[in-house]
Amino acid sequence: MQLSSDAVILRVWPVNEADLIVSFLTRDFGKLKGVAKSALKSRRRFGGALEMMTEVKATFVDRPRQELVRIDHFELIASPLRAPVNYARMTALSFFAEVTEQALPDRNPEELAFRLLTTVLDHATADHLWLSITYFSLWMTRLMGWLPDLNTCTVCTASVLDSGAWFHPSADGLRCHQHAMPTSASLLPESLRLAQQMLRCPIAEFAAQPWSAQRAADLRRFAIQALERHLERRLRTAEALRRLSTSVATASPSRMRLS
Ligand SMILES: [Zn+2]
Repeated sequence: MQLSSDAVILRVWPVNEADLIVSFLTRDFGKLKGVAKSALKSRRRFGGALEMMTEVKATFVDRPRQELVRIDHFELIASPLRAPVNYARMTALSFFAEVTEQALPDRNPEELAFRLLTTVLDHATADHLWLSITYFSLWMTRLMGWLPDLNTCTVCTASVLDSGAWFHPSADGLRCHQHAMPTSASLLPESLRLAQQMLRCPIAEFAAQPWSAQRAADLRRFAIQALERHLERRLRTAEALRRLSTSVATASPSRMRLS
């Protein structure tokens, strides 16, 4: 049966002579993998639409008992190359692709995740790269059901909103100062407030503000750590983002200390 859906290209790799395997997230059918026959030769069927994070209208055939769909063509809707691509932006786009591919199960329609990805792609320009990474990480954590309560300590249920919270890679949830585990990282009160706002508001509402790599770096670290903890693996691109944010840091971010 021939099907069609808006989709975003996640990953492409070669197979055989001129064929490609493509992993892509569709709006209507969830994440799929398919074969694009002779894709390297056919500009008519796939021209310019095989870059990671390209938004396309995908037409494909789903065959019974076949894991891979047969991709007939991709029609370009929006290319990530419409904005300048440097190493930082390429790393951010790769991060969106890696998280989406690792977190979402195959063939499980998840329209909110599709909308999150396409909205974040619209904002992933040089000025708002760190906003888009932070927003995407926080929202993916929530959509996957992995976001803990951001209001209270998981041990004593005391409010952490005014005092800030601590988190640790080996434990779920936030903790108050008294129950913080050794070597925990902190979340500042303003980052907790920002998280609540991000979970209520579209990303466009934050785009008027300047976003450096340091802004809400603790919240970004917290969300990425939650993703990695539940995926039970380190994200290759998250490590690249960590190095990038350190290298662009002009001043060290304010940190609370465990006394
Ligand atoms: Zn506590």
